[in-house]
Amino acid sequence: MLVIDELLRAWDGEELVMRFDERTGTWTLIGVHSTVLGPAMGGTRMKPYASLEDAVRDALRLSQAMSMKQAAAGLPYGGGKAVLAVPEVPPPGSPERLAIIDRYAKLVESLHGTYVTAADMNTGPADMDAIAGQTAHVLGRSPANGGAGDPGEGTAIGVFHAIRSTCRHAFGSDDLQGRTVLVQGAGSVGHRLIRELRDAGAWVLVADIDPARVAATGAEPVDVEAALTTPCDVFAPCATGAVLNAETIPALACAAVCGAANNQLATLEDAERLRARGILYAPDYVANAGGVIWLAGYETLGWDEAHVRSRLAGIEQTLDDVFADAAVSGITTAEAADRLARARIEAARPSGV
Ligand code: NAD
Repeated sequence: MLVIDELLRAWDGEELVMRFDERTGTWTLIGVHSTVLGPAMGGTRMKPYASLEDAVRDALRLSQAMSMKQAAAGLPYGGGKAVLAVPEVPPPGSPERLAIIDRYAKLVESLHGTYVTAADMNTGPADMDAIAGQTAHVLGRSPANGGAGDPGEGTAIGVFHAIRSTCRHAFGSDDLQGRTVLVQGAGSVGHRLIRELRDAGAWVLVADIDPARVAATGAEPVDVEAALTTPCDVFAPCATGAVLNAETIPALACAAVCGAANNQLATLEDAERLRARGILYAPDYVANAGGVIWLAGYETLGWDEAHVRSRLAGIEQTLDDVFADAAVSGITTAEAADRLARARIEAARPSGV
């Protein structure tokens, strides 16, 4: 518990809710990082952790990142994240899973809207449908149950706009005709991003550990091991986190990085490493905010398709501002994004709080 005490002291969030369920051996953690801009919104991550400390660390770190993402997206939401630290991930529809989700839904409801949940790693629309039986504070239900469908569509369109801004700053033109973009991961976001890029005339390379997913895109395949070292204009990480690190950055063969993956930088120093190499980095939470724009826009804010699309396109302007601030202030783009997000939160904070 000493480590958790230290983690909480180093965290600048509002509240960490913790429950242990003896029957299922599950720790449920809800990190409410900030409610200054609105209810703390963020997904539910279900996975086994080596220790309770690791689970707490994830809940605190991810909820803070959600505050930055919501603020950068200009949404009336704060940042939160839930972690269901399970002994093992129970299969969809199993009694164990339903028991965990039921207890979790009651906990979300007990917070009276301070925290609004959604899907994340190992949870999906079926879980959100089950949660909706207990609480209204949930996004990402299945379309059959009134949800907005797969947010991967919104994320992909948002990343496409982010790539346009990135090219404008890296090459002086946002015309993607003839630009080479390497997409790592052709999943929910990646395959849709590839479609947008090809429609815009880009030459797309793709790497995925699943050959069937590669084949379905129609893009030019690249070995998974060669994804980071293959020459391209823009490298778009759309698979896993921490792909930009002390080992990989020296070997990158791209001019810019802009993709959907969360937590692309292994450490904050990696933003400096990219800058030193002259590689333009589009901060991940600015580029990949299309998913929360999609869910909040359709499910709670009452936006029509035209407005959702214009807000997704607005990611271009946000990134333009981030790149301009980084260049003028001589800071990394990651620092500039944090500065923009924090300024929006501080501007909304009631005086004296
Ligand atoms: P997904 O699971 O649908 O797709 C991931 C793809 O990456 C899969 O096709 C998988 O086979 C592939 N992959 C895994 N490891 C790989 C590797 N080492 N090399 C190449 N390919 C690999 O996930 P998704 O929903 O498309 O999300 C992709 C990334 O974007 C994740 O990091 C996710 O956290 C982030 N993200 C997603 C959304 C969203 O709306 N889905 C929103 C924000 C951020």
